[in-house]
Amino acid sequence: MVNSISSGRDAYESVLRSLENHHAMIKQSLPMIASENVPSQAVREALASDFGNRYAEGWVGERVYAGCKYLDEVESVAIELGKKLFKAEFIDVRPISGVLANLCAFTTFGNPGDVLLACTIPTGGHISHSKKSLGGTAGTVRELDVVNYPFDEENFTIDIDKTAQFVRELKDQGRPPKIFVLGASVFLFPHPVKEIVELAKGYDAKVIYDGAHVAGLIAGGIFQDPIGDGVDAFTMSTHKTLAGPQHGAIVSWSKYAEPIKRVIFPGLLSNHHLHAVAGVAIAFAEALEFYPDYARNIVINSKTLAQALFERGINVLYEKKGFTESHMMIMDVTKYGNGFEVEKRLEKANIIVNRNLLPYDKRMGRDYKAPGGIRVGTQELTRLGMKKSEMEEVADFFKKVICDNKDPAKVALEVAELKKGFQKVNYCFSSTKDAYEYIKIR
Ligand SMILES: *Cc1c(COP(=O)(O)O)cnc(C)c1O
Repeated sequence: MVNSISSGRDAYESVLRSLENHHAMIKQSLPMIASENVPSQAVREALASDFGNRYAEGWVGERVYAGCKYLDEVESVAIELGKKLFKAEFIDVRPISGVLANLCAFTTFGNPGDVLLACTIPTGGHISHSKKSLGGTAGTVRELDVVNYPFDEENFTIDIDKTAQFVRELKDQGRPPKIFVLGASVFLFPHPVKEIVELAKGYDAKVIYDGAHVAGLIAGGIFQDPIGDGVDAFTMSTHKTLAGPQHGAIVSWSKYAEPIKRVIFPGLLSNHHLHAVAGVAIAFAEALEFYPDYARNIVINSKTLAQALFERGINVLYEKKGFTESHMMIMDVTKYGNGFEVEKRLEKANIIVNRNLLPYDKRMGRDYKAPGGIRVGTQELTRLGMKKSEMEEVADFFKKVICDNKDPAKVALEVAELKKGFQKVNYCFSSTKDAYEYIKIR
């Protein structure tokens, strides 16, 4: 922690020092948290611009403030590109995060008391889809009656037949389903979108696809096409596999445009982080040019890394399904302690991952503080230009730390050595700056 602060000057210097220290640390680390990425320098430039100090309430061209000429130009570009990338009639790029995009969708399509189906957290679901008893957004903020899909743990997917049976029973109890949420935080394989869309039709229910994690893979055409498969709304974060600024968006159909716009403003937002909107416009432009290649390489790397870890004795789950079709994998590390301990050991080697619940953890009496799993993503290493041979090296580092109990401080040196060769952001328009360069504009 920081030393005690005695003056404003001390605090000022302490904060700036922490920022620089963070950059130095991340520069020599392997950032492998599946929900993160490194944006291009152009996105960082947008984030540092004066756009972040302005308001532009309302819709493009109909703002309630003056001074919006260039803000409108940029937001129009984001909207045009977003519609093209996600093959959609409508996109709203104002939600300032993925959770807020979800809350917008829940508010547009549901009322308090309505039944919403989602995955549990151990089966990959996100806290924003969760029940009131867990403090989840759907239950707590929108007061939806959240119930969970029957899940096929063996294949790590929603069990369609049991879900059909389950919603029939719910209807018989006078609780017909109103919203089906798809998408997840542990998102290894495409969800059964077409099947759920078909099922939802029979109940006049809506389907929301939460593509927070996989938006970049979808933009690159390599995962699934939720709008093409008929969902009512597709929500996302713009900073996971889509390597933009931390922000959100909601994609939908013209028929829902007006209600969605009204929920966002005046309902959920006043300012909408216009510097981030500019960053999103740039990230979408990069996606259009470079993501077919980027997304493909992310998935090649995650399959390669999963296989390499598995061959080194680490229990990466779902081998028989090829481990993953996305940017991430999940592994059971209970042979070596728990997810918390393994996360901390890897951190000492400058390998940054997160502990994660496994589908069967609850039954084994494990909770999120010390779960049995680790979740690992390859999207950021791929963006830095790493390919298959580097994935083999990364797997060696994991083995040294997790299985062979090597001194993590020694492994950290090897990690830093590998990382030296991967300091530029790829799959974007060129820049002279390094990926994690600390840029002073004081
Ligand atoms: C990360 C995540 C979110 C939340 O995203 P924020 O942009 O951080 O609000 C929503 N849904 C899922 C499935 C996620 O994994």
